[in-house]
Amino acid sequence: MGLKMLRLASGSENFPFELATVCYLEVGADGEVTSPPEEGVTERVRSGGSRLYAVWPGHYRSDLFLIDDIDEYEKALGLQHDPVRTGLQEHKHQVRWSISPCGDRPTGAYVSVETHLDCGCEVKDLRTFARHMRDQRGWDIATTAAWESTGPTDDAHARPKYTFRIRRRSLA
Ligand SMILES: [Zn+2]
Repeated sequence: MGLKMLRLASGSENFPFELATVCYLEVGADGEVTSPPEEGVTERVRSGGSRLYAVWPGHYRSDLFLIDDIDEYEKALGLQHDPVRTGLQEHKHQVRWSISPCGDRPTGAYVSVETHLDCGCEVKDLRTFARHMRDQRGWDIATTAAWESTGPTDDAHARPKYTFRIRRRSLA
């Protein structure tokens, strides 16, 4: 494995921070390496006490990155809310929803739910939306299952319609 040191500068929003195979390393002032970094790493990096690195594994080579844009790191990991990336404002979403008529098994644990966001948000990041909905309505949205959105077509004022898989018991 060859390691290539790259700086991850500001505006590097294409780095796959949230990829499960990316490995993070914190190197403390004393040279101690902690992976994954413990809580409070962003404060320690900001204060200059630690440095944060990411290893992005590839098939033939893995690259090592020095993360010098802690804001991007926090946004990508959901530690800092990012309305641009997620399409979501941090507010109480106005949700219009109905159970999809295209028959799930009536006894299944999950149902398909058609959803419109009247508040104008767009779901670009399902995990963040699922977290908002869990906090706001108690919904348990499947984040591993497929979901779909249907964009507005002829009506310019129409909102996209999203279909999520939601645990039936969590719908109220
Ligand atoms: Zn909203």
